[in-house]
Amino acid sequence: MPNIPIQSLLTKLGIKALNESVCTGNQWITSIGSENREIKSPVDGNVIASISFATTTEYERVTKVAQSAFDYWKNVPAPKRGEVVRQIGNKLRENKEDLGRLVSYEMGKSLQEGWGEVQEMIDICDFAVGLSRQLYGLTIASERPNHSMQEQWHPLGIVGIISSFNFPVAVWSWNAMIAAVCGDVCIWKPSEKTPLSAIAVHQLIKSVIASNNLPEGVFSLVIGDAKIGEKMAKDHRIQLISATGSTQMGKRVGQLVGARLGRCILELGGNNSLIISEDANLDNALKAAVFGAVGTAGQRCTTTRRLIIQDSVYDKFTSKLVKIYEQLNIGNPLDQKNHMGPLIDKIAVKKYSMAIMDAENEGGRVLFGGKVLEGEGFESGTYVLPTLIEANNHFRIVQEETFAPITYLLKYSRIEEAIAMQNDVRQGLSSAIFTNNIQEAHIFLSAKGSDCGIANVNIGTSGAEIGGAFGGEKETGGGRESGSDSWKAYMRRQTNTINYGKDMPLAQGIKFDV
Ligand code: NAD
Repeated sequence: MPNIPIQSLLTKLGIKALNESVCTGNQWITSIGSENREIKSPVDGNVIASISFATTTEYERVTKVAQSAFDYWKNVPAPKRGEVVRQIGNKLRENKEDLGRLVSYEMGKSLQEGWGEVQEMIDICDFAVGLSRQLYGLTIASERPNHSMQEQWHPLGIVGIISSFNFPVAVWSWNAMIAAVCGDVCIWKPSEKTPLSAIAVHQLIKSVIASNNLPEGVFSLVIGDAKIGEKMAKDHRIQLISATGSTQMGKRVGQLVGARLGRCILELGGNNSLIISEDANLDNALKAAVFGAVGTAGQRCTTTRRLIIQDSVYDKFTSKLVKIYEQLNIGNPLDQKNHMGPLIDKIAVKKYSMAIMDAENEGGRVLFGGKVLEGEGFESGTYVLPTLIEANNHFRIVQEETFAPITYLLKYSRIEEAIAMQNDVRQGLSSAIFTNNIQEAHIFLSAKGSDCGIANVNIGTSGAEIGGAFGGEKETGGGRESGSDSWKAYMRRQTNTINYGKDMPLAQGIKFDV
């Protein structure tokens, strides 16, 4: 099993004193009096670091610094803000290898996926640089003579970013890079399970902030758990909360932000399905199904959780699938021969075992997997077998998102039935169909088709390009991040009506003579 020289990796990424848990851009604040938490790698169970959580006093300081940074940053021309983001992108390019390795070791995803995550950060930087010259508003025809109307987009304020463990760094960049070109400043609270990757990112961008003489507070970091997250959600000084995580977290954050009539973007859990038609290229469908189900050990919001397979090809497809599962290598994700690494921690392993038990109790049949791995290389207790279960869509457990590599196999006969099954869950993130039947493909994409934020044809549910708006409906939260016009959520829209005539007519022809 390849050993990771974690100390030298942390040093290369500029991580030294780990009692510094709060960063206001170029300055780290040492957290005094806060208890230290051990951060363990799911890969081998070793303690990587002991880290302190930000205190209320430190949180206050960061928020004040961010407020004053906003007064500066909003006045910097957008293309100049884009130039800073361009330099951040280059910093990430230079450090992709090391940062990706740390992400892989701290979170447990494969090295390829760790590097992929950093590549996603680089891609979003490039996207944001272009966007910095395209924050366009509309001109609108006025109903009054000698009047013009336009729409402008202004910086919004502080964006609070609460992120999940499974994308320890990319979620920050989807939000922070777009927010930065929009003229906002950010306070990031990463998952308490993966704080080191977040600290590394802030160490990397420190030199960009210094060389551009930016004030403290354009990009801040606060390490902590749900307590700090709730503080942010309640804080009226934070104009937008962008929260990525479980639906349970989103419901709480949504209520707290709603109570102060603040804005939020919620990116929550999925229960994604892949429909496999008898008209599909079954070899491609198999590849997509396996990557979608076992990639990141089933810990992606877009993981394929349900395979909805047409009855005529069901037996053929599932027997091929089981054969592939039998050949998967499970082990240290830094070893590139392995297809699947560990779950994040032992709590996740317990949830995996309980879900399988529940499925069996409801009448499900395990076709493959269902075991926690033990023995050499699996001492951390975080490795499990990817699992295939024949089930029914209405099982309570099938209706839930279990953040583990468990895939439920469901059968259908007509496309309408498959779509109804696909939509009959509370979540609405990602969905896909494999078919070469043009009618089926278009029905799936039509208004009577998939009700998800993402609907794909002949590719899987897992992963997405940064150019599109990312997010989902129903209990996935309705938020959109990343590409397309998602940037509008990070700005304040202003409608301007300008009278360049000599009279002052009122709208709707109202007469009011004085
Ligand atoms: P989680 O909900 O446990 O935690 C996510 C973040 O929210 C963490 O930073 C955590 O500290 C914080 N948090 C938890 N409770 C909070 C509260 N009451 N108030 C404020 N902050 C709180 O989720 P996780 O286990 O880290 O991540 C897995 C979940 O994230 C899955 O459900 C997955 O589907 C979802 N996810 C969704 C997307 C998406 O874009 N839709 C992307 C990645 C992950």
